[in-house]
Amino acid sequence: MLSKQEIQRYQKHLSLGGFGVEGQSRLKAAKVLIVGMGGLGTPVALYLSAMGVGTLGLFDFDRVDPTNLHRQIIYHEDDVGQLKVEAARNYLQKQNSLTNIQIFPRAFTLDDVNILNDFDLVVDGTDQFAMRYLLNDVCRLKGIGYVFGAIQGMRGMCALFCPGRGPCYRCLFPEEPPKEMFPTCALDGVLGITPGLVGMLQATEVIQYCAHLTSPLNAIVHTVCVTPLHFQRYELERDPECPLCSGRITQLDLLHPITEAPLEITFHAMRKLQATGAPVQIVDIRTHEERNAGGVIETSVHIPLSELKNSSRQLLNPECTIVCYCRSGCRSLTAVDLLKQAGFEKVFSLQNGLRDIRT
Ligand SMILES: [Zn+2]
Repeated sequence: MLSKQEIQRYQKHLSLGGFGVEGQSRLKAAKVLIVGMGGLGTPVALYLSAMGVGTLGLFDFDRVDPTNLHRQIIYHEDDVGQLKVEAARNYLQKQNSLTNIQIFPRAFTLDDVNILNDFDLVVDGTDQFAMRYLLNDVCRLKGIGYVFGAIQGMRGMCALFCPGRGPCYRCLFPEEPPKEMFPTCALDGVLGITPGLVGMLQATEVIQYCAHLTSPLNAIVHTVCVTPLHFQRYELERDPECPLCSGRITQLDLLHPITEAPLEITFHAMRKLQATGAPVQIVDIRTHEERNAGGVIETSVHIPLSELKNSSRQLLNPECTIVCYCRSGCRSLTAVDLLKQAGFEKVFSLQNGLRDIRT
């Protein structure tokens, strides 16, 4: 039921065909948790609160910094030094006092998963891959919607993953790319409008989901490029190999094993990593006969798989990122296992081995 005040305030929604009292009442009943109140979370919160989403939860550990102000438009100069969730709550309450706002002034961790029991949908405004996997997994296992968003420089993307049907974030990105390939906003530049555009797309997905405006079977991935301005969309299907969607993982306490670091790296990603100056050791784990026949990647050391267990400690530097390769990327996965057992931490298998590259 809408109050007299709400009927007046949301009059333009109520007279809108296909939305009306029913759509507004659904927004009023909706409970949305926004994790990360930065460039993405702030435009999302502004519109959701203004449009009448009944309950908003805001999660962020950070304080407002002057370098935030060009894109995190909810914060004012006077807010610098304040907790973001407090500054955001102050602004939102002034804009719409009818919104019930709950704040969580800390980073979201595994200890917080039960907070999601009180929400229908989570909007991810963070820029951390590990957090995306965590939120995706928790939402999927609890049957809650998850809206992902990401930006890099002048590009961005977003998608809504509905509970119980369609794909999840792991179907889109089965593995976490090496951190060096995706610098955070703190390390890399970002055009102020980019997170604004992606945040608007995320907010639009939230409104559609909460007001039951559409019900797509598959997720739609939206991408945007700012210069030249260009939007694209494509349908994403479930990945049959996805550990969540295939039902292999069914319990929250199994979250840790599937949020571990990826095992594979592409040749392109490895070259990019080397270009950053990070120390990388490339290990050819093929047999002597294969090595003599060719396919030698420049600067690689040769340790046949059969000798890896005994020679790794003498020949490999645990401080380096180690990339093992073979002909097709299959035996090198075994090599990664062996090296991890031997205590090496940053170890990858070259995806598809020599099949994708010319040496
Ligand atoms: Zn999935």
